[in-house]
Amino acid sequence: MLEFPFHIVPENNDEKFMLEALKEALKAFKEEEVPIGAVLVHENRIIARGHNQVEMLHDATAHAEMLCITAGAVCLENWRLTDTTLYSTLEPCAMCAGAAILSRVSRICWGAKDIRQGANGSWVDLFSVKHPIHEIAIEGGVLEEPSAWLMKEFFKLRREKVDGG
Ligand SMILES: [Zn+2]
Repeated sequence: MLEFPFHIVPENNDEKFMLEALKEALKAFKEEEVPIGAVLVHENRIIARGHNQVEMLHDATAHAEMLCITAGAVCLENWRLTDTTLYSTLEPCAMCAGAAILSRVSRICWGAKDIRQGANGSWVDLFSVKHPIHEIAIEGGVLEEPSAWLMKEFFKLRREKVDGG
């Protein structure tokens, strides 16, 4: 059982929606997936939710953000996700950053850094280069602590299992 040692009272809209992304990350944790969650917000309303399902779907592209982008396009009946904000508990990877550019997401808000895959400065920074068609506003470190804790806890438990603990 996971004891989540945070009681989060959102202080603004970004934290409010990030808290929803965190709930998705907790679902992933319980399903033994790397605990990353995302929500897509349009006109102050959540139109898609997703959590990492790489293991269950046997699909390396089944990231929380990708699932949100697909579901959001279905919801809006439009692949152009103009005026949306994508909230993710983890710094987006290069694939998700690329998908967000292609789908015209307006803004991305993320929680914890990803030193291996992060495409907003931790590994590479796709957002520091001016894109010829679409620019995304991006902000990291929103509710960073609980997101980072979830990841740390997940890999700690997984190591214990591998070690036979
Ligand atoms: Zn990704």
